[in-house]
Amino acid sequence: MSASAETKMQFLFALRSKGVIDTCVLTAMERVDRAAFVKGIFAERAYEDMPLPISCGQTISQPSIVGIMTQALKVSPRDKVLEIGTGSGYQAAILSHLARRVYTVDRYRRLVIQAQAIFTAQDITNITTFTGDGSHGFAEHAPFDRILLTAAAEDPPGPLLAQLRVGGIMVLPVGQSDTVQSLIRVTRLETGFDYEELRPVRFVPLLEGLGAD
Ligand code: SAH
Repeated sequence: MSASAETKMQFLFALRSKGVIDTCVLTAMERVDRAAFVKGIFAERAYEDMPLPISCGQTISQPSIVGIMTQALKVSPRDKVLEIGTGSGYQAAILSHLARRVYTVDRYRRLVIQAQAIFTAQDITNITTFTGDGSHGFAEHAPFDRILLTAAAEDPPGPLLAQLRVGGIMVLPVGQSDTVQSLIRVTRLETGFDYEELRPVRFVPLLEGLGAD
């Protein structure tokens, strides 16, 4: 069952009050039913601003953080976007309404299969899913206009910096797990990279290799 108009209005109000003010981002978030990406009893809480458990011991991020990261990425309709950390697929679905094409990767095959099934059911056709260690990026489809990591790296991974187009933007949490991480925005300039620190966040760590499932 999809959310009532009142639930959605309260959801959008909560997003705005937490700093998600870009109307394109808010519209994309209004279009994507978060409940479809959350299973069982947790689906009832899909419109609350909290992270929730998904398969493989992972989490779907808090909606206001999804909004803030999407807004920080400054996506335009012609962009080709790479997301590292498919998880439930919720963030990728939002990006799919803002970008031309989205590539999303997770180290758990099970999560990728489940997310792909939701995209198909929702007639979302501009997302390419794949299983792998996203810290290597996706060289065959590089360069990317935008790259978003939804798992925390100790430093921006070199291959991802290399696969960012000049003028492109990458948003990612950096820092050790278990401590407060920083959300940063990296812009690729002609001559190097510009780094901005946006806010403290807390994400699961970016791990090496494939997951067991
Ligand atoms: N964006 C997701 C939430 C991501 S949770 C959503 O909208 O639901 C972080 C995800 O990053 C987890 O699913 C985890 O498996 C994945 N991950 C961690 N390290 C990774 C790596 N090296 N490559 C690809 N995915 C990774």
